[in-house]
Amino acid sequence: MISYEEAIRIVDSLCHPLDAVSRRPSHAGGYALAEDLYAKCASPPFDNSAVDGYGRRLEDLEAGELRLCGEVKAGDDGLLSVPPGHAVRIFTGAPIPSGIAAVGMQEDCREKDGAVRFLETSHRGDHIRPAGSDFAAGQLLLKKGEILNPASIGLAISGGHLTVKTLWRPRVTILTTGNELVPPGEELGPGQIYNSNEGALSAALEPLSGVTRTLHVGDDLEQLKFLLPAILQDSDVVLTCGGVSVGEYDFLKEAFAACGVEQRFWQVAIKPGKPVYFGTWGRSLVFGLPGNPVSALVTFYLFVRPALLKLSGRIDEWSSPIQARFEGESHKKGGRMEFLRGVLADGQAREAGAQGSHQLAALAAANCLVHFPREAERLRTGDKVEVTPIEW
Ligand code: AMP
Ligand code: MG
Repeated sequence: MISYEEAIRIVDSLCHPLDAVSRRPSHAGGYALAEDLYAKCASPPFDNSAVDGYGRRLEDLEAGELRLCGEVKAGDDGLLSVPPGHAVRIFTGAPIPSGIAAVGMQEDCREKDGAVRFLETSHRGDHIRPAGSDFAAGQLLLKKGEILNPASIGLAISGGHLTVKTLWRPRVTILTTGNELVPPGEELGPGQIYNSNEGALSAALEPLSGVTRTLHVGDDLEQLKFLLPAILQDSDVVLTCGGVSVGEYDFLKEAFAACGVEQRFWQVAIKPGKPVYFGTWGRSLVFGLPGNPVSALVTFYLFVRPALLKLSGRIDEWSSPIQARFEGESHKKGGRMEFLRGVLADGQAREAGAQGSHQLAALAAANCLVHFPREAERLRTGDKVEVTPIEW
């Protein structure tokens, strides 16, 4: 059985960022930029008025009243000439005509009979947004790896980009297995339980995958061998759930092997999640997650989530745990590293509740995984522990 550290090293070494694709910025929200983005034009591209008002020349900044020589509105070319002793009616976003040094706000002016009276004097540059005052042409706008959000999408478009290069987000298929499982909403028959992992894993994938597909199959080797090739073909990442342990009806490993998946590891010295399987099929990653609901989510969190982040270009390094002090008492045998479902507050970490691998209640109440080192047998109040905060 390999160690946790060895397992994450293996996964990390086999996952590489997916190809870049060009897309419209408006459809790129949540995707990581595949390259640095430079402005193709300045913003604003020309000096323009920040208000609705009246523009005047440098020598007329203190004039009380000026004759109007015309108007410029947003979208006009602004090529009109304003002779000395004249003002120009101007609207927000309109280009500043040559010679105009300031704009007086409409609220501070009175217009009558083709002339405007200024109630205030102006200073050079008042209410003028100079060209390039947001960014200059050629300026670095966004860095490679940044996740696009509405503001950065607006920035990219105002910098002249019709398309941006983003990393592809992984296509993920969740394949749950087990004769005992029924979908939510159905009446439970004898021996049946709800398929909670399908929903839990779908939700965990929501912020991480491009497309998530779900499928369920009974404990049936032939069915698995029939379905897997098409799933592998269409997925960057395959997550199976259940059927990967040592029981007579645990068929996943055999099905993977029959479909050409190369096993990279099976069984890791951790608890929960010991039966976890990892393999590759070409560039696709295959995770065989254990069926127990806590094990499925914890192994998802430990191995799958960082791999998905790396595939979509969002992180280069796996996040490291933080230090805390344990509060309470916990015992185990040496040989496996345990991830206790814990509550971290003010640097103190305690168990969130009962720690069985079928007991989801404690995971639902937890905000961290407390690392109980492989060979340690006891944790007591005050012991230093490493803790991985859970940020779904
Ligand atoms: P397995 O790994 O298939 O032996 O499953 C281990 C345990 O997890 C069994 O008690 C299963 O009933 C349970 N289990 C497996 N898959 C799921 C699932 N999708 N949702 C909820 N429980 C599951
Ligand atoms: Mg099963």
